[in-house]
Amino acid sequence: MNIQQTSLHLGELATGHALTAPLFCIEPSKEPRFVPETQGGVDVSPAPSVYIQANVHGAEVQGNAVIYQLLKLLESYQVLGKIVLAPLANPLGINQKSGEFTLGRFDPITGVNWNREYLDHQFDIEAWYLAHQHLSEVELISAFKARLTESCDERLNNSWGISTGHRLAVTLQKMAHQADIVLDLHTGPKSCKHLYAPEYDKQAARFFSIPYTLVIPNEFGGAMDEAAFCPWWCLAEAAKAQGREFSSDSGVAISAFTLELASQERIDLADAKQDALGILAYLSHRGVIAEKVAPADMPRFGCYLKDYRKLHAPQSGMVEYCAELGQPLAAGEPLAQLLRVERYGREDALTSVSLPVDCVPILHFASASVHQGTELYKVMTNVFEL
Ligand SMILES: [Zn+2]
Repeated sequence: MNIQQTSLHLGELATGHALTAPLFCIEPSKEPRFVPETQGGVDVSPAPSVYIQANVHGAEVQGNAVIYQLLKLLESYQVLGKIVLAPLANPLGINQKSGEFTLGRFDPITGVNWNREYLDHQFDIEAWYLAHQHLSEVELISAFKARLTESCDERLNNSWGISTGHRLAVTLQKMAHQADIVLDLHTGPKSCKHLYAPEYDKQAARFFSIPYTLVIPNEFGGAMDEAAFCPWWCLAEAAKAQGREFSSDSGVAISAFTLELASQERIDLADAKQDALGILAYLSHRGVIAEKVAPADMPRFGCYLKDYRKLHAPQSGMVEYCAELGQPLAAGEPLAQLLRVERYGREDALTSVSLPVDCVPILHFASASVHQGTELYKVMTNVFEL
């Protein structure tokens, strides 16, 4: 297998140093596939191409280990579609240390969440489709990718400049727009594994080694997965309005997911291999590799984003997190205990925090002390089997 390593230029630091990230590219071992004569076709689209990035939030390092394990595994597979891997994708965030901790969730210059900096393409997709509907599906997909890339270039090169963080994000986004499958590897603070999947593509969740899936609406909120799939969902809608459907299983040409690979500030190479195998199972299903890789045999559950609820600390204090992440919890059972030691001797020195509904706690705040109102837990409610 041919792995090329290059460097992605993401901007310049005040000192004049280039801000760069490593980039691995695996070219397919075969030219685009051809269907046999008996099936009547000459040329079908090549195997899907893939873009995988990790560590856009500075403390969420486990995705780098997953990319490492994926590279090692791919050495023994026949790769049919181009795969681009961008670990350490946000060097500014990764290097933003304070004492023992990596801050890295918000751009220190603007305060904006690094995963809300992506570009919302504002051009009229319906009009674009009407002007290009005469194209074959393969040509249409290629032309639309070029249009999205051009839109990123316009933003990067506009006369008024753009912020440091937005430049980094749009540069990554431009890479993502070249691909048919986009995976953004994150983690929660203290978290069990979960996946964000767009509603039209939720069936893909049964391939990854991830027990919980958040089914998200087809709307742009600034994150990479949405930046990658929303324009394509709009394109599919515009085509559908003219009576045309794309041939992919989901009806949308591009797939994009955010994988939340447990907790931040954690590298676990054995666990990373399990997640790399889950990614391989999905890539195998999509025909990116020639070999069959079966998904892990495990139960998988989901909930809609509207049922993914935040619990804010009702009061301040020191926190004992009691509920186990990824384990169903009955209504009224304690999620956490808040300790107010200065109230020693009073009944309210210890307060138990619970919810009035059944839930599955997915993640909790990383620190053991909270202000009143801190986002203490995020839980899934109205959970269903996928
Ligand atoms: Zn993240």
